[in-house]
Amino acid sequence: MKIVVLKFGGTSVGTVSRIKKVAKIIISYIKKKYKVIVVSSAMSGETNKLVKKSKEVSTKFISSEYDVLVSAGEQIACSLIAGALNDLGYKARSWMGWQIPIITQGDHTSSRIEEIYKKNILKYLKSGGTPIVTGFQGINFNKRVTTLGRGGSDASAIMFAKFFNAKRCIIYTDVKGVMTTDPRLFKKVRKIKTISYEEMLEMSSLGAKVMQPHSIQDARLNRIDVDVMSSFKNENGTIITKRRNIKNNKIITGISSTSNDAKLSLIGVKDKPGVAASIFKPLSKNSINVDMVVQNISANGKETDLTFTVKSEDLYKTNKLLKNNTNIKFRKLIIDKNVCKLSIIGVGMITTPGVTYRMFQALADKKINIIVISTSEIKISVLINKKNLKKAISTLHNEFKLNK
Ligand code: ASP
Ligand code: MG
Repeated sequence: MKIVVLKFGGTSVGTVSRIKKVAKIIISYIKKKYKVIVVSSAMSGETNKLVKKSKEVSTKFISSEYDVLVSAGEQIACSLIAGALNDLGYKARSWMGWQIPIITQGDHTSSRIEEIYKKNILKYLKSGGTPIVTGFQGINFNKRVTTLGRGGSDASAIMFAKFFNAKRCIIYTDVKGVMTTDPRLFKKVRKIKTISYEEMLEMSSLGAKVMQPHSIQDARLNRIDVDVMSSFKNENGTIITKRRNIKNNKIITGISSTSNDAKLSLIGVKDKPGVAASIFKPLSKNSINVDMVVQNISANGKETDLTFTVKSEDLYKTNKLLKNNTNIKFRKLIIDKNVCKLSIIGVGMITTPGVTYRMFQALADKKINIIVISTSEIKISVLINKKNLKKAISTLHNEFKLNK
């Protein structure tokens, strides 16, 4: 059986007329002799509305009920898609997570798919039907409804491709594919034709919101090629695949940025073993994620400065924890909210010397000051002032010839 998994995002099924368009896309695959499994998200805005209602009812809305509530939007979208296919003379029906069932493990609101029962869906496919499956939801071993985290229908699609050994897994969305950078920040973006799982994971964790980061991890672990394309334009999108399949000689694949960062600097911290641990222990206990860290080498061997970043929403709490921490001594605490993190990403940098220098020189030429730096094998991130973000992106986009 030649199976394809087609996943439709919220905007693609956002209105009745769009759902009719989606039905036509599905039929085009049926005509190409594919057996199609459809995974749908909720109509755009629906999940947010449900989340809002839960908050109105209670600020401590219990997570098992939250999952029942927020997964409801998918049910509507799936029955409408099935209805649209039926109307055009095609055999189709909706399937809720619990009816299949899709078994998940882990906590409510952030579960992961463990198993998908295939029997009934396979039988239906063989009979010429098209199953329309709710993304985002499953059930746990107690038969309670679970969800996979916001944006989780991407993970549903990838796990269906895995369990059904699909030939293709296509994520239909409202953008043309994965772009070299955020088009809202830089106009001359280009569509990336192929990108490795690792690069895509960095891109999406660092701000590119095309796919849920967890789902890319699932695709990577299961070696599933993912096509990301627009449901509005009939053209090739981006293929997310293993590094080995990528045949380009680009050093940098993309640039991403986040703007919800805040920087804290502790000035005049005693320079002795265990200080950094004492600073970060209360933060980790309070689930505050520390991102970039730099410690200056102290000139006199007695005192040092330590700078790190957290998400802006954690700034207030972090500030309080530092001030109340009696295990550490420092002279001054400086806070800066006007920062953003900019990253260049590419597996090409592993084998190309001098990328760091080129990035820093290009920014220096434009008089953009770098506040903090962090690197990994395939990315270099810098913290810069927010006012320089657009200029920095265009500078680096040109420097690494991403528009070619
Ligand atoms: N409808 C869910 C959400 O908005 C899942 C998804 O769209 O992937 O998070
Ligand atoms: Mg999504």
